Amino acid sequence: MTATTRFAPSPTGTLHVGNVRTALHNWLLAKQAGGRFLLRIDDTDGERSREEYVDSIKADLTWLGLHWDGEERQSARFDLYETEFQKLVSAGRVYRAYETAQELELKRKVLLGRGLPPIYDRAALALSEADHAAKEAAGEKPHWRFLLDREQAIEWHDGIRGPQHFDPAKMSDPVVRRADGSWLYLLPSVIDDIAMGVTDVLRGEDHVSNTASQIQMFEALGAAPPHFSHEALLTGTEGKLSKRLGSLGVSALRDAGIEPEALVALLARLGTSDPVDPALDAAALAASFNLAHFGRAPARFDEAELHRVNAAVVHRLPFERVAHLLPDGMDEAAWNAIRPNLEHIGEAADWWQVVTGPVTAPKLSPEDATYAAEAAATLDHVGADWPALTGALKEATGRKGKTLFLPLRQALTGRDHGPDMVALLPLIGAEAARERLAAASR
Ligand code: GLU
Repeated sequence: MTATTRFAPSPTGTLHVGNVRTALHNWLLAKQAGGRFLLRIDDTDGERSREEYVDSIKADLTWLGLHWDGEERQSARFDLYETEFQKLVSAGRVYRAYETAQELELKRKVLLGRGLPPIYDRAALALSEADHAAKEAAGEKPHWRFLLDREQAIEWHDGIRGPQHFDPAKMSDPVVRRADGSWLYLLPSVIDDIAMGVTDVLRGEDHVSNTASQIQMFEALGAAPPHFSHEALLTGTEGKLSKRLGSLGVSALRDAGIEPEALVALLARLGTSDPVDPALDAAALAASFNLAHFGRAPARFDEAELHRVNAAVVHRLPFERVAHLLPDGMDEAAWNAIRPNLEHIGEAADWWQVVTGPVTAPKLSPEDATYAAEAAATLDHVGADWPALTGALKEATGRKGKTLFLPLRQALTGRDHGPDMVALLPLIGAEAARERLAAASR
C-alpha cells in the first residue's frame, strides 16, 4: 500500500503557523516514504467555508513548496457520505435522537451533580418505531448519533504518544449528522480516509478523543484504521497558547521577510530535540524526519528564532533563487558580497544603494581626512583592490587595525559596519571609490 497522508484544512480562515506545521509534517511523512500527500478541503460547513480561503490555503502551500499529489473537496462528496451512512443505518451503528441542546445540558448537569461522568444516556435508543413516527408527525427532526461498541476497548499505538487506551463505556455516542441533514466533521473524515487510502493520519492532539470515536467508525465501515499520530500543540514564547500565534498567518510572515525555506526548516524540527539546520533542503528534511523524536510537551514557537533561521537561510540562497527580488543591476557578485549581512532579502536594496551611491560619510577628524586624501591618491595606483589599497596605506602611514580600516569604510560606505570590503570595493569601482575618498577628505 502506498503511504498516503493528507492535510485537511477547513477553509474558514487563512493558514497559521500551527496549520502549516501540520501540513509540512504530513508532506514530509509522505515524501520520506515515497508516498502521496493529499489536500482535502473540509468544506462541509457551507456557511463558514469561503472560496477565498481555499485560494489562500493553496497559495500558501505553494509558496512553501508543499505540492500536493491530489485534491478533494468534501462538499463534492455528499453522495458518498450518504451511501456509507446508509450502511451504518442498516447495521444499526447510527441512531436517531431528538434532545435539544438545552435538554442535553440539563442531563449533563444532573450527572455532574451526582458525581458521574457526563455521558449521553442513550435515552433515544429506547424509542420505538411508533415513537419515531409520532415525533415525525409532530414535525420533530432527528439528529444522528454513532453507536459506540461499549464492549470493544479502543486502542491504538500512537506514533507520538505511544500506546493509547480509551474505554468506550466512558464516552458519549458522538453526533455525526445534524437534524438538517448536514454533516459534522467526524464521519465524513473517516469515509474519506478510507476512500482515499490514507495510511497515516498526523494531526494535533486536540483530535485525540475524536480518534477514539473514529477508530470504531473505521471498523464499523469494514476498514482497518490508519496509523494515527498526534502532535503536541504549539505555544508562543510567553508559555501559553497565544492569541497572536493562533492568528500568525503565513502572509504576515512573508510580509515580514521570512523565506519559505526558513519556515520549513524551523517547523520541520519544532517539537523535536533535533537541531534546526538551515542548510537542509526539503528532501534532506524528509529523509531525517522522525516522529519518534517528537516529544509530548507543547512545542514553543519563537518568532525571534524564525528570524535567526531566516538570516542563516538567506546567507545560503543562490543568486538564481533571489535574482527577481533584487534591485535592477544587482548581479551575482554583488549578491554574494552582500548576502552575509542580511537577515531578510529586502535589505539587499539598502546595501545595493551603498554600492551605487550616493553615500554620506560621517565627518572625519582632520587626521583621518588627510588619510582619506592619501587613500584616494593610492587608489589611483592600485585600483579597486582592497588588499592592495590597505597594504600600501599600511606601509605608507604605519596605521594598522581599526585606524587603518575604519575611516576608509566610513568614507566609502557611509557606515561603520557592513559587507566585506574585499568584495565591496570592486563593486563600488575605482572611480566612485576615489570620489568618495576625496569627498571625505574635504
Ligand atoms: N478539518 C479538520 C481540522 O481542521 C481535519 C482534522 C483531521 O486532520 O482529521 O481540524
